[in-house]
Amino acid sequence: MMEVSAGRPRYEKVLERMANACEKSGRKIDDVRLVAVSKFHPAADVERVASYGQIDFGENYVQEAMQKRNELDLPDLRWHMIGHVQSRKAPAVAGKFVLLHTLDSIKLSNALEKTLNSKNIGQTALIEVNIGGEEQKSGVMANELPQLVEHVLAHCPHLKLEGLMCLPPVFDAGEAARPFFARLRLLRDELRKNFDLPLPQLSMGMSGDFEWAIAEGATIVRVGTDIFGPRPPKMRDGLI
Ligand SMILES: *Cc1c(COP(=O)(O)O)cnc(C)c1O
Repeated sequence: MMEVSAGRPRYEKVLERMANACEKSGRKIDDVRLVAVSKFHPAADVERVASYGQIDFGENYVQEAMQKRNELDLPDLRWHMIGHVQSRKAPAVAGKFVLLHTLDSIKLSNALEKTLNSKNIGQTALIEVNIGGEEQKSGVMANELPQLVEHVLAHCPHLKLEGLMCLPPVFDAGEAARPFFARLRLLRDELRKNFDLPLPQLSMGMSGDFEWAIAEGATIVRVGTDIFGPRPPKMRDGLI
């Protein structure tokens, strides 16, 4: 029988592409983590991909993520929040994800800190950078990065900054995204130096360009379509 989505060969093809990209750039496969992006796909698909050995899953919407997690009896999965989080949703997110990829404002940092502080728990986070400087996109502008880092260090002790994340302005365009990945790495290197922080993680690269992200130092790639198949058309790419 043919499996149209989330089949094992699809998944293994992604692992193979990752391995090839690592080899090409002289990196170890263990240094790049695959986050399977399951937004708009049902819990049953997550369960199937988990049965292939996948542990890290990414979701864009808080409510959808929580619903899916409740449907599944898979406590060992590691859930990542990779979508924009409004400050008013901070209480639902704080401490609930292994990694928040999309810290993007002082306001959100403060809202998260408030919940984390009241529960006395920590939250690891990446700062999302608006790497193409696009007006309508979320993420902090590169020139505002130091200010946000400074704020988190001074006022949000329960937030642990681990690195940076980006979504380049070109989509599914392979090598065309590479300069944006390189730029994110440079920004991380600058912060590392200026704030004396390790910032080990770079979350960058999706189905259409993750090999180029790995070549530029990605430690986390976020792959949806090439694992799960196309998303339902109406809701594709956050257009809901
Ligand atoms: C949807 C999404 C992905 C996965 O995109 P694909 O092209 O389907 O691999 C990765 N990162 C973010 C932030 C997303 O919203």
